[in-house]
Amino acid sequence: MSKAPAAPQPAAPPATPAPAAEEKKPEKKEKPRAPKRRIQVHKLYKVDGNSLSRLRKECQRCGKGYFMAEHGDRLTCGNCGYTTYVSGPRKG
Ligand SMILES: [Zn+2]
Repeated sequence: MSKAPAAPQPAAPPATPAPAAEEKKPEKKEKPRAPKRRIQVHKLYKVDGNSLSRLRKECQRCGKGYFMAEHGDRLTCGNCGYTTYVSGPRKG
């Protein structure tokens, strides 16, 4: 096996310089979003004279102090994610 010596090639300057890796990011559209509101705890209770009543159902898993958020046909706990469906008025 005879190996032919590789002919030295003249280093030709590149005709066109490689384009720089330029990533064009799509313009971000900023949506006007309402600021996140903190839960208003005082709205979860109702005080009537000397008695206090809770307006939301409490989470079964988390216990007292964790109220379920109402989403139309279901109740969801924001702490543990527990969801229960309420049997509301059926349509149709
Ligand atoms: Zn929970």
